[in-house]
Amino acid sequence: MISAELLRSIRNDLPMPVTIAALGREAPPAKMSEGYFRFVCPHCGEMRATVNPKNNLAHCFTCKKNLNNIDLLLTLGYDFLDAVSLLQRLLNQYQTHQAKK
Ligand SMILES: [Zn+2]
Repeated sequence: MISAELLRSIRNDLPMPVTIAALGREAPPAKMSEGYFRFVCPHCGEMRATVNPKNNLAHCFTCKKNLNNIDLLLTLGYDFLDAVSLLQRLLNQYQTHQAKK
């Protein structure tokens, strides 16, 4: 069973740049620009999907779509359950790493 709390947590508590870094070559090309993390929008192909660190959502300034961690993996071809289990694993690693700091 996937709890609402788990879904909230993998959307909000795992920064999208961490997800994209972990995906490596599977992930869309990304860069830091003007203090924002941007990546190639899977919907329109422009490097205009920009992560808002306040809500951990990427907003594309070209096609106006929003993406969270789960949406990103779905656009890469993951099915929902695989996306959730991968993100859960990344979140655990991330939180373990943060706790050590
Ligand atoms: Zn777009």
